[in-house]
Order: sequence, then structure tokens, then C-alpha cells
Amino acid sequence: MNVAVIGVGYVGLTTALSLAYIGHDVIGIDSDSEKIRILSEARSPIHEIGLETFLSELKNSIRFTTNMKDSVGNSEIIIISVGTPPKPNGDADIKHVESVAREIACSLLEGRKYVIVTKSTVPIGTYRRLTHMVKRTLTERNLSASVYIGSNPEFLREGMALRDTLYPDRIIVGAEQQEAVDVIRRLYRPILEQTFSSPSFLPRPEGFALPPLITTDPTSAEMIKYAANSYLALKISFINEFAGLCERVGADVTEVARGIGMDPRIGPRFLQAGLGWGGSCFPKDTSAILALASYYGYNMPVVEAARQVNNRQRQVVIEKLQMALKVLRGRTIAILGIAFKPETDDLRDAPSLDIINALLELGAHVRVHDPVALDNAREVFQGLEIDFVKDPYDVADACDAVVLVTEWKVYQQIDLTKLAARMRNPVLVDGRNIYNPLNAKSAGFLYLGIGR
Ligand code: NAD
Repeated sequence: MNVAVIGVGYVGLTTALSLAYIGHDVIGIDSDSEKIRILSEARSPIHEIGLETFLSELKNSIRFTTNMKDSVGNSEIIIISVGTPPKPNGDADIKHVESVAREIACSLLEGRKYVIVTKSTVPIGTYRRLTHMVKRTLTERNLSASVYIGSNPEFLREGMALRDTLYPDRIIVGAEQQEAVDVIRRLYRPILEQTFSSPSFLPRPEGFALPPLITTDPTSAEMIKYAANSYLALKISFINEFAGLCERVGADVTEVARGIGMDPRIGPRFLQAGLGWGGSCFPKDTSAILALASYYGYNMPVVEAARQVNNRQRQVVIEKLQMALKVLRGRTIAILGIAFKPETDDLRDAPSLDIINALLELGAHVRVHDPVALDNAREVFQGLEIDFVKDPYDVADACDAVVLVTEWKVYQQIDLTKLAARMRNPVLVDGRNIYNPLNAKSAGFLYLGIGR
């Protein structure tokens, strides 16, 4: 099939490459000409496992352009995956989605059939608004084309984006017309039936069950995305709330999580206590759903609490450092990991940003390390007095404390004795509970985990 993917960021690029991999002819369109230039050289503008391999292997089935007008007309299916950043009131801003929809409508061809789906996370009712906008433009152009608009929310996790796209749990399609569902089913058939041969770097997970295509109305599809992210955010905040109480009564939250996670009604995933969630989705999507509810005068105290606990969790690091070092002014603190999670270079709403800003505010000197996100961090913290250090041991030189913020593998494998030896004052705040407290203590650290 001829497919156009508009907005080739974390979601769009992964989608475009995966669709090319399973046999479609794909055009990736983005308004960022620098991004398109980099992609056209088969380089990836973002860090995500396998993207660069796909870019060089799939040159014949994917191309990238900034020119929507000449590109979407021949596409049977058009996927919108542009950003939906938060507005000042927390609601999702769909100005990019709307401008893309208008541009698409201006580029469609007479007598053709199209299915347009949003993969961007959009406020409830967006599909209806886009339908109206596209129809209106077509009428203005006096052009007759069949256009179906639907919702196809995305659930990939950054750091595992290709894996989640090729081996998803489920694919959700919200559409009013069966014809649109049929086209989308055809698009995903190789994934639904797993008929493609796995890339060598990404074997099919053992025991992987064929993913269902869940069809529903577009409003419910749009809501599913928000409900999924709110629930996941809530689950993490739940265990973090218990972590705080565990610390006070002398229980170990990792033991508690293990104990409750074995109950199949609860399940073990997303029960790792730590510094809380960040990234481009949970913070933005929970705030958007609260904004939506407020338009109806409806309270969502559970989602609100998930956000409150998460914000408080970022402060926990500062409290632990104050407990260990008393005064932070003039202290040197090393941060291990800036990306919002491992295997990505994405810093959007990363816990590290709040922690670093709080430390600077309190007069501490900050040294940071991250295996891939240092360049992005330099941009974000431009003009601030921070040492960006390329080696995970060097970053600890003469520090008063090390704070593990992102659980990259390189930190899990670090030699704690060697790390402690580099420091002025071996304090370790293990913000993700990745170290064995006894090992850390025998390496010479004052060890402070979360909820243990
Ligand atoms: P992103 O910022 O990485 O990518 C968005 C891309 O859209 C950028 O490359 C930008 O240049 C492009 N763009 C913006 N306006 C455009 C326009 N008018 N024409 C063409 N291109 C335009 O964002 P992302 O992380 O890929 O997220 C995209 C959407 O998917 C968001 O709604 C997000 O909430 C949702 N989502 C993201 C994730 C994730 O893990 N990142 C997961 C599921 C859903």
C-alpha cells in the first residue's frame, strides 16, 4: 500500500519505518527540514534501537520530504503523528494536527479514496473536527474524493519503539465506516498475522501471541489512549506513595511490590518504586484528561493524585540529599542519567530536569552523565553552570553524592567500589532501586534507596 506518515518524530519515524519494513511504500513527511535532511542521509535524528539499521536497509521503500502537497495525493492511507504539546491550561494543543489536516485536504486528488488516521494523542472529538475540516476544504476545492477519518492511537514505549510497533499487544482502530477498518486491517495485516520475518536485531519475542485488532468508535479509541496512560501513571504513583510509607515504618517497597505483583489482578509491571514518571506522554496526557474533565465540571481525583504523588517524588531526592549532607549549597552532586528513561535520548519532562534545577537553585554544583542524552542536555541547560561528563566514573570525581536518576544498563553494571573511590563523600541516592543496598554499603557508600 502507499502510505504517508506526517510528522516523523519518535512515533512517526518508528511507524513509517515499521510499515516500510513489512512491505508498504512509505513517504515520511515533516515540516522540520533539518530532520528531513538527516533522514534522507539514512541517519536517525533520535536515539532509538534499530532505526538507523532500518533507515539504511529500507532505502527503496521509504523516502522523506517536507513537501506534503506533492506527496499525499497518491497515498491510500495517511497517518498523522505530529506533536500535541500541552496548552497553558494543560489541554492538548492540536494546532499542528489541524494544520496538517488542512494541508492534506488541499493535496488530495479527484475521485480517489483515502483513509486518514490520527496516531497523535488527541483530545476527544478530534476525529469529528478533522472530518469537518477536511470535508469543508474539499467542498471549497469543489473536489470529490472519499475520505474516511479514524483514530489509531499509539502505545509504543520509547526505548522499545520498534519492538512495540512490530510486536504490539493490540492495535486499536476507531472508525465509523467498515471500509476504513478494512483498509487499516490491510495496512497492519503482516503485523496482525506476524507474517514478516523478524529483523535480526529484533527477534520475535518467545511465545508472542498474535495481537488483536480492536475496532471501536473513534471517541472510545481516543479515550482508550488517555485511559491507558492515566492508569499506567497511576500504578507507578501508587507504588511510590507506598514507598514513602515503607521508609517511615521500616518496610522494603521492593518486597511489597513483589508480594502484591504476584496477584494476577495486580501484576508485577509498573510497580518499581523510584523517582516517578516523566517523558512526553504521561505528564502531558494526564494533564490533558484533567483539562477535558474540567470542561464538564467533572473531577478526576484519582488522576490528580497520581500527578501530585509524581511531583512530590521528584522532591524526594532533594530531601534525601539534605538528610545526608545537611547543607547542599557548595556541594557537588553527580547525576547518573538525564533521559526520562533508558534507551532514549528524550528529555521531555524528565525527572532529571526538575532535580537538577532544584539542586542549582539550592546552590549545589551539578555534574551530569548520560550515555546518549548529553547533547540534548547541553541544549536544555544552555547557559547554566553544569559539567557535562562523558564517563560515568569521571562524573563522580570529588562529588559529595551521586544520584542515580535513569536506570541505564551501564549504571547497573558499574563498579560501585571504583565509583565510591572517586568521591569526596560517598553518598549514593539510588533513585530507581537498581543496586543491592548491601553491595553499595560494602563498596563504601551511604546508600539511600526509594522506599527501602
Ligand atoms: P515528536 O515531537 O517527536 O514528533 C512530532 C513531529 O511532528 C516533529 O518531527 C515535528 O517537526 C512534526 N511536525 C509538527 N508540525 C508539523 C506539521 N505541521 N507538518 C509536518 N510535521 C510537523 O513527537 P512524538 O513523541 O513522536 O509524538 C507525536 C504524537 O504521538 C503526540 O501526540 C504524542 O502524544 C503521541 N505519542 C507519543 C508517544 C511517545 O512515546 N513519544 C507514544 C504514543 C503517542
